[in-house]
Amino acid sequence: MARLLIHGGTVINPATGLQKNLDVLVEGERVVALGSALSVPDALRVEATGCYVVPGLLDMHVHLRDPGFPDKETLKTGTQAAAAGGITRVVLMPNTRPVVDNLETLATVLDTAHRDGVVWVHTTAALTQGLAGLERTDMAGLAKAGAVAFTDDGKTVMDPVLLYEIFQTAAKLDVLIASHCEDHHLVQGGAMHRGEVSRLLGDVGIPALGEELVIARDLLFAADTGARLHIQHVSTARGVQLIREAKARGVRVTAEATPHHFSLTDAAVWTYGALAKVNPPLRPEADRVAVVAGLQDGTLDAIATDHAPHTLAEKRQGLTQAPFGFVGLETSVGLAFTHLVHTGKLSADQVIAKMTVAPAQILALPIPQLAVGAAADITVIDPDFEWTVDPGRFFSKAGHSPFAGAHLRGKAVATVVGGRLVYSEREGLRT
Ligand SMILES: [Zn+2]
Repeated sequence: MARLLIHGGTVINPATGLQKNLDVLVEGERVVALGSALSVPDALRVEATGCYVVPGLLDMHVHLRDPGFPDKETLKTGTQAAAAGGITRVVLMPNTRPVVDNLETLATVLDTAHRDGVVWVHTTAALTQGLAGLERTDMAGLAKAGAVAFTDDGKTVMDPVLLYEIFQTAAKLDVLIASHCEDHHLVQGGAMHRGEVSRLLGDVGIPALGEELVIARDLLFAADTGARLHIQHVSTARGVQLIREAKARGVRVTAEATPHHFSLTDAAVWTYGALAKVNPPLRPEADRVAVVAGLQDGTLDAIATDHAPHTLAEKRQGLTQAPFGFVGLETSVGLAFTHLVHTGKLSADQVIAKMTVAPAQILALPIPQLAVGAAADITVIDPDFEWTVDPGRFFSKAGHSPFAGAHLRGKAVATVVGGRLVYSEREGLRT
């Protein structure tokens, strides 16, 4: 049986609080030993001195555009990008073509992922047919077939009568609703945050209120029905505060922050134009600071990328015409360490927990562990690895990013999935 020895690193296992210098021995698909100075002559050796050795990272908000948009990304290229970013498990959003609103498409996604995927893949399913916000999906059937949560991500269900029924059903089935919060009436036509920079650029802008109104509504629905609610990509200070207060009242709500919302502001749109166009938009500094504070006090439970690839041609259509979104799988570890750990805002183990245990708990997936007997999904992170983001080297098909040229400190340098070393900094992808 193939053996792999990860040597000399500091093991962090957030589920138990373990943080200790230990070698890790993998045999087949399992971790079989943790110990000091393990000597296994026939094992493939990964040198991890000065690195953290952690359970494989889980990204709970990913668009891989498959089926339907192979020019943007595929399950193959997207999971390659994940592996290169240290992410061993991704959760996909349902806004593919066709939409994951039926059992057949759900099965197609999971089958293709099983065939082409380099990392583990789960998918969410839509709340409404075709994400049109008019007709409910078969949540019971989709959940039974493997959908790990329900969302119309990219859109918001605006009809409160329909949405209330959906919340009631979700509560009864005990499934998670993940909410993209955007009041369609308030945000029409804007390409970026409505504020000083949008005025200078002549864009109508997307008001913070458009996000906050829907967060407030969904928190009330969750409180009223008892459904489990997850707020996606929180971007505003008041949004963070609404969630903080709801948690204090005992509402069953969790929330995520993206690396771009904790590391960039709307000034990036001035510099990068449509390459920094994303939904919800990058906000001013006070909001960015509030997102970091939300991560610090646990209001924001998880870090998720909202990896949302588009072709460069699409992004070159100008600020107004270009689609929302950009990639994040290959930069999330670097951004989290650069902007959260090295700034002293969060400790390395807090960041790791928000990229492993927290999203697994939210989704009711098995808790990622780095322990004897656990599945060998492992990420090795060099916290001091200095590098410059070069989108031309991304495995993602989208060779562009508002982080192009950014100097980051911290990187995933080896990724193990199911006992196999699928990526290493030295050798690249090994599949
Ligand atoms: Zn979204």
